[in-house]
Amino acid sequence: MTSSVQHSADAVDKALATADLRVLVACLFHLTGDDKWLSDEMQPQRDVRLVADPMAGFSDETAEFIKNAVRDWLLSGATEAAVSDPGADTFGRMLSFFLGEEVPTEYVPMIRKDFGYSPEAAPRSIAATANARPRIAIIGAGASGLCLAHQFNVAGLDWHLYEKNEGVGGTWHENRYPGCGVDTPNHFYCYSFAPNPDWTHFFSGSGELLNYLERFADDNDLRGRVTCGTRVEAATWDETNNAWDIELVDANGSRHETVDILVSATGHFNQPVTPTFAGQESFTGQIVHTAKWPEDLELKGKHVAVIGTGASSMQLVPTIANDLASLKIFQRTPQWARNVPEYHLAVDEHAAWLFRNLPMYAEWYRFAQLWRYGDGLLRFLKVDPEWKHPDRSLNRINERHRNEIVSYITEKLEGRPDLIEKCIPSYPPFGKRILIDNGWFDTLCQPHVTLVTDPIDQFCETGVQTNDGSVYDADVIILATGFDVTTLASRINITGKNGVTLADDWANENPRALLGITVPNFPNLFIMYGPNTNMGHGGSGMWLAETQSSYITERICDMIDHDIATVECISELRDEYTERIDELHADLVWAHPGTPTYYRTAAGKVRSPMPFRLVDYWTMTHERGLEDFVTTSRPTPSTTGN
Ligand code: NAP
Repeated sequence: MTSSVQHSADAVDKALATADLRVLVACLFHLTGDDKWLSDEMQPQRDVRLVADPMAGFSDETAEFIKNAVRDWLLSGATEAAVSDPGADTFGRMLSFFLGEEVPTEYVPMIRKDFGYSPEAAPRSIAATANARPRIAIIGAGASGLCLAHQFNVAGLDWHLYEKNEGVGGTWHENRYPGCGVDTPNHFYCYSFAPNPDWTHFFSGSGELLNYLERFADDNDLRGRVTCGTRVEAATWDETNNAWDIELVDANGSRHETVDILVSATGHFNQPVTPTFAGQESFTGQIVHTAKWPEDLELKGKHVAVIGTGASSMQLVPTIANDLASLKIFQRTPQWARNVPEYHLAVDEHAAWLFRNLPMYAEWYRFAQLWRYGDGLLRFLKVDPEWKHPDRSLNRINERHRNEIVSYITEKLEGRPDLIEKCIPSYPPFGKRILIDNGWFDTLCQPHVTLVTDPIDQFCETGVQTNDGSVYDADVIILATGFDVTTLASRINITGKNGVTLADDWANENPRALLGITVPNFPNLFIMYGPNTNMGHGGSGMWLAETQSSYITERICDMIDHDIATVECISELRDEYTERIDELHADLVWAHPGTPTYYRTAAGKVRSPMPFRLVDYWTMTHERGLEDFVTTSRPTPSTTGN
C-alpha cells in the first residue's frame, strides 16, 4: 500500500520561497530518479561562504523550473522518494555535483554514514544470545554520554550512566549565561540519526539545545538507566577481577559499584577556570563565572565588569549591555571575530516546513553545513615557510582572511581609532578559536561601555584595579575566563594498573590518548572528547560524539564477540600517535608563538585541538580495531576452578 499526503499549494509555495536551490536539485534526483537533475544545466554554483547563496547561481527562470518540479512532486501526494539510496558511486558523484567542487572519494563512507545509509550506518549489535555482557558505566550525560548510551542500547549492551548534575545535557545544562548558544549551525550540531526539523534558529540558544538533548533522552528511553545527582569520585582498576571499582557520591553519601568497562564522557569544557586575583576577598560585590551563572542574578541597572573576551564573553556582553548602568570589559588578548549576518536568523515556519515534509531536504542541507564547517579550512591553517609576514599570518590565504576581518572590524569601529587599535589582534586569524561577531563591536561603541586593556592588578573593595592605578567600579564581576582543557578525565581520581593514576600519566598539562580515547595502563577505559579531539578548524561536537560512540561501541562488541575480558591500548601506539599529533601541530596555527591560546599549554604542547581533517579522524576510528590493544581472554568456565 502506498501512502499519500495532500499538502496545500499555499504551504508548498511559501516553503519553496525559503528553499536552498542546490538542496532542491539534489532532492529532485531522489524524488524522481531522473538523471537530468544531475546534468550540467542543473549544476549548482560553487559557493564557499559560510552561508551560501540559496540561489546557487541559477537564473530566475531555472530557479522557477526547479521549484515547480518540487512543487509538482509535493502536490502529487507522493511521500516516498524514488531513490532513497543512490548507491556509493552515484552518491559520491552527487556530493561533488551538489558542491560544484570535487569531493574526494575518501569522504564517501563518512558522509554516507551521516545520511544513515547501509551498510555504513548499520548499527553494530551483539547477538541476543551473547551471555557475557560486560557491565558498563558511563560518566556524564552530555552530548557525548547520551549519544554513546543510545548506541549502547541499539547494540544491546548493559550500561548505566552517572551524571553529577541534577539533569542531563552537560554543557547545555550548565552554561546558562545570557546569550549562551552554539556557533556551529544547528542542522549539523545535532545527531545525524536524530535530526530536528523544529530548530527555531539556524544557530540556537542553550535552552533549545538543552531541550533537544532532554528530548533525545526521553524519546530513546535513556532516562531509566541514567542516575543524576551522582558524581563518580574515583575509579580504581582491580587487576585480580579485571574490573573497575567506582566510587559514587550523591546526597546520601558514598558507595561503590563494580563495572567491567568505564567510559568518561565528562566533556572538554567542563571545568571553569576561576583565576584568583589579589584583593579578591575585599571586593564587596558578587563574582560569578559564566559557566556557573546564578539563576537569580539580576544585572539591570548595575555596574558590571567582565573579565575575558573569548566565545562566552562574545555571547554574553552584547546580550546584557543594554540593561546595565555601565560595563567594563577587561581584555587581555583581542579576538578575531568574523561577520556571519545570518547568526541570529530564525527558521521561520515555512523553512521548517521543508525540513519536515520534503524527503532528503534535511540530509542535504546538513551536508552543506558539514562541508562548510568541515575540512575546508584546515589546509589554510598551515604555516607556509616562505611566507614573508610570519608574525601576523601564516600564508597567503590566512593573510586574506586577516585582511577581510580587519576591514570588517575597522568598518564596525569607524570613528573610534582607540577601539580599532585595541581590537585588531596581532596574531594570525584562527590562532585562537575564531568567533562570530554577536554585536560585539557595536556594543563596544556604546557610551556606557569601556574596553580596558591595561592589565588587571587586583580587585579592590569597589571593583577592579589595573596596573596604571585606575579603579573600575563594579557591583558584579563576571569571569568569562574559560575552561581547563588539560586535566579532562584525569580530574576523576582514576587509578589504573600498578597504581598508576591518570593524573600522573597526564601530569604537566600533557594529556595523551590513542585517538584521544584510550590510554596504556588503563584497561577497559574509554574517554570521550579527550586530548586533541577538540574541533579547532571545523566540525561539530555532535559529529565527534557520534564518531567516538561508534568506535567505543564497536570495540566493546568486539570484546564480546571474541570473549575478551580486557583491552588495553598498546603503549607504543599511543606514543607514535602523540608524536604524529605533535608533528602535525608544529606546522599549524595553534603552535604560532605569538598567540596565547588555551589550545596550547604553558610548555608549548598543543593538546586540545585535533590536527586532522574530520575524514582522517573518522577513517582512523572506523578502520582501526582490536589490533591497537593488548587483550586478555575471558576465563572459560573450565578454568574458573570451582
Ligand atoms: P576562552 O576562550 O578560554 O576565553 C577566556 C578569556 O578569559 C580570554 O579572553 C582570556 O584571555 C581571559 N582570561 C583568562 N584568564 C584571565 C585572567 N587571569 N586575567 C584576564 N583575562 C583572563 O573561554 P570561553 O570564552 O569560555 O570559551 C571557551 C571555549 O568554550 C570556546 O573556545 C568554545 O570552544 C567553547 N564555547 C563555545 C561557545 C559557542 O559555541 N558559541 C560559547 C562559549 C564557549 P586570553 O585570551 O589572553 O587568554
